[in-house]
Amino acid sequence: MTVEIICVGTEILMGNIVNTNAAFLAEGCAALGLNNYFQTVVGDNEERLTWAIKTAMGRSDIILISGGLGPTEDDLTKEVTAKVTGHNLIEDEYSRKAIEEFFKKRGTKPTKNNWKQALIPEGGRAIPNPNGTAPGILLEEKKCTLILMPGPPAELRPMFEQQVAPYLAERSEQVIVSRTVKLCGVGESKAEELIKDLIDSQSNPTIATYAKIGEVHIRVTAGAESEKEAKKLLKPVVKEIKSRFGNKVYSSEVDETLEEAVVALLLENGLTVATAESCTGGLLSGRLVNIPGVSESLKTGLVTYSNKAKRKLLGVKKATLQKHTAVSRQTAEEMVKGLASMSKADLCVSITGYAGPVAEEGQEIGLVYIGCGLKGKVRVKEYHFTGNRQMIRDRAVVQALVLMREAMLEYFTENQTAEKN
Ligand code: ATP
Ligand code: MG
Repeated sequence: MTVEIICVGTEILMGNIVNTNAAFLAEGCAALGLNNYFQTVVGDNEERLTWAIKTAMGRSDIILISGGLGPTEDDLTKEVTAKVTGHNLIEDEYSRKAIEEFFKKRGTKPTKNNWKQALIPEGGRAIPNPNGTAPGILLEEKKCTLILMPGPPAELRPMFEQQVAPYLAERSEQVIVSRTVKLCGVGESKAEELIKDLIDSQSNPTIATYAKIGEVHIRVTAGAESEKEAKKLLKPVVKEIKSRFGNKVYSSEVDETLEEAVVALLLENGLTVATAESCTGGLLSGRLVNIPGVSESLKTGLVTYSNKAKRKLLGVKKATLQKHTAVSRQTAEEMVKGLASMSKADLCVSITGYAGPVAEEGQEIGLVYIGCGLKGKVRVKEYHFTGNRQMIRDRAVVQALVLMREAMLEYFTENQTAEKN
């Protein structure tokens, strides 16, 4: 079954609003196992909208149309749909009542224009819209089905999820289920190389890699007649991918973020943490604080931006700063050691680097040192990040999280081995 998406609105064409409805609908259709081959954006123009709908009707089984259902003059979607399909617009009693109710609740009166929204093409069905006045419309034609939805995402999304998706699911021949294996501390090309044979031989499930800042996500998708069947197809492939990447896999839960995985490790093992940041200016501690429950672990998050702060708060030596500069392995290490002695936290992290955009003599933009000390063992890593100031800072934060995770995993393995001996 093929589906096609048409988004109506001159403001989308002009770039004034981002077409999030298309992404939302496309994702929803993919999850339902529907093949989406075309997406169109068309302005509020009768002739071009007519052309877009006619073209879609000639090549797709289901057409999802968003926008242009409102009460104003430029809202043409319903009128054009009626014309193209050769139906008259008739008043839908349910929609008329819904509009009456909507205004009654708000204590205002509908304008003449609002009643326009109770009209639907003959033979169609109104789709209730509890979040606005324009109902959606379902129109089953001989060769294809048209589904019209209001443009505002706050109306379109619940309408799709609650009413349109169940309708489409019934008509779809298969269900699609995905799992995402999330990796950190490995680049995309390296990741792809490690599963190249799996990617090359894929058919169902399919495997795709996505690069995120400092992370790689591998999405495995299977289609089958039932959810149970699809999950059965996914299981061995996900297991194989996980085994190939070992502890580079931080999660396979849809919503779990890297900082969540790091905080979970800290909390499960009763470890406290402290940060001292220079070029990232608190972004790392900010990401840790995103996670509820981190108060059990996070002791201190310092922003030691100036040399003076590094000396005063962390005890970095004047000689170190003079000899090696603030962006150096030595400074990062002294920052960690100073942080450990002032905070008494188990895991201490320091970040110092040049985020740009302007480099002074001898500075390399993107050069960052991250220090990480866990129970006395200190490691410092050197990074050469690319991108603008924001990207360099974001990348540094992700790598700090990766380093924290690595340090903890290593420490746990060593301790387990020690316990066994
Ligand atoms: P209304 O009754 O609000 O006029 P409508 O169904 O006529 O609803 P439009 O007039 O096309 O919808 O769009 C209304 C608003 O909805 C836009 O100003 C925009 O904020 C949002 N919107 C419309 N289309 C999209 C889209 N494709 N992606 C994201 N937002 C959209
Ligand atoms: Mg409108």
